[in-house]
Amino acid sequence: MKPLIKKLVEAYGPSGSEAQVRELVREEIRGLPDYTTVDPLGNLIAVVKKKAKSGKKLMLTAHLDEIGFIVSHIDDRGFARVHPFGGVNPLACVGGRVRFADGRLGVIGVDSRRDEPNKPPTLSELFIDVGAASREDCPLKVGDSAGYWRPLEELGDRLVAKSLDDRIGVAVLIETLRALKRTPHEVAFVFSVQEEVGLRGAGVAAFGLEADLGLAVDVTRTGDTPNGVKMEVSLGLGPAIKVRDSRMIADPRIKDLLVQRAGEAGLPSQLEILEAGSTDAAAIQIARGGIPAGCVSIPARYIHTPSEMVDYRDVQASVKLLLELLQKPIDF
Ligand SMILES: [Zn+2]
Repeated sequence: MKPLIKKLVEAYGPSGSEAQVRELVREEIRGLPDYTTVDPLGNLIAVVKKKAKSGKKLMLTAHLDEIGFIVSHIDDRGFARVHPFGGVNPLACVGGRVRFADGRLGVIGVDSRRDEPNKPPTLSELFIDVGAASREDCPLKVGDSAGYWRPLEELGDRLVAKSLDDRIGVAVLIETLRALKRTPHEVAFVFSVQEEVGLRGAGVAAFGLEADLGLAVDVTRTGDTPNGVKMEVSLGLGPAIKVRDSRMIADPRIKDLLVQRAGEAGLPSQLEILEAGSTDAAAIQIARGGIPAGCVSIPARYIHTPSEMVDYRDVQASVKLLLELLQKPIDF
């Protein structure tokens, strides 16, 4: 699964510019689903048709987009100012590198703040340097988008990369689709767009699909770093089954079913309560007249930095947990 993860995390795809990563996913799943569509917003939807009358219609999502930047103006010396896509933390930016759709790299610099050098920078104090000497020389245009740039690294069992949020969820869905040999259910694998700017893709996909239940696969924070947030979730202790986050209360039947399936299969799992942040499941839950929704979260450190970190064993266990869910009947 690691070569797949490497391809996905190193792909370009800030919110609204998901075409490159979407085509990559489409190639990876070719021939596996019964059919594949791209909806008007850009969500890639791969459907495995229902095999048994009693089967449910399930919607699984992982988002294609990553946080990033859009060029808002370029100054006389060729430096670009940017607006963010999603929760960009200026503390994680300075000295970092970004990459544009055409592969061009840029370095993130910050205005000199002589008066208060130790004050954390704001986004408006950041700029991107692509090596231009003047405005005329700068190859960027207003509206060009960039994501962070870092290659995947392995530190023992830990994987470190940009955009593990949520390309690791995308990898888990692809791997689940590859390994799914039989299911009584109709399963729509939704590779969603524009999650980082307000769960937009999953909302329209959920409206269109009219599923019986929905599940997001995304990352969650952990409480296992020095002076970290008070939170039960740790790297390496298995997929986290969401109980609640700042925008949703997971359907208790789905939460309980996931706990039960993990137990039956002897898979490690943990329960997640996330204070700040949410996932596509929150948008699915309030689509149409309401859709029961839950979330399988892959524990991740340093979310929304260029060096997000997950444990490979949690990733593998997440695939197994989803297979346990999809291969058996669901009674409610
Ligand atoms: Zn995410």
